[in-house]
Amino acid sequence: MSASTPAVDGWFATDGSGAPYLLGGKCHQCGTFVFPPRADNCPNPACDGDELAQVPLSRRGRLWSYTENRYAPPPPYPSPDPFEPFAVAAVELADEGLIVLGKVVEGTLAADLKVGMEMELTTMPLYVDDDGVERIVHAWEIAK
Ligand SMILES: [Zn+2]
Repeated sequence: MSASTPAVDGWFATDGSGAPYLLGGKCHQCGTFVFPPRADNCPNPACDGDELAQVPLSRRGRLWSYTENRYAPPPPYPSPDPFEPFAVAAVELADEGLIVLGKVVEGTLAADLKVGMEMELTTMPLYVDDDGVERIVHAWEIAK
């Protein structure tokens, strides 16, 4: 058994070099993308497509908006103790026309961020479950 596993199955995968990428849905009929991925129900109101393919999404995008969370979420949401403030980024993937929300890696807060800067996908631990397995989520970091 792996010592770390995604907190939510099917939202991201890793390529041969270990770099994570998000998985999205793409409508067969009109080409519209969606994240989180799903298998049916095209999000384009002008399209009646009902079959979405699972596709990899761009690993980089531009920071569209961000905020900083200074309060621990209420249970049942997992949160480290003591709570550390963290930033949340909305990153625009130009090729897909999608905005993807995610936590920003530890050590980067709102003061470090600027709308329009290039962000890159990574992963970070969210919590350790009852079996001692580290559960990871997708996250954004400032592109190197
Ligand atoms: Zn469609």
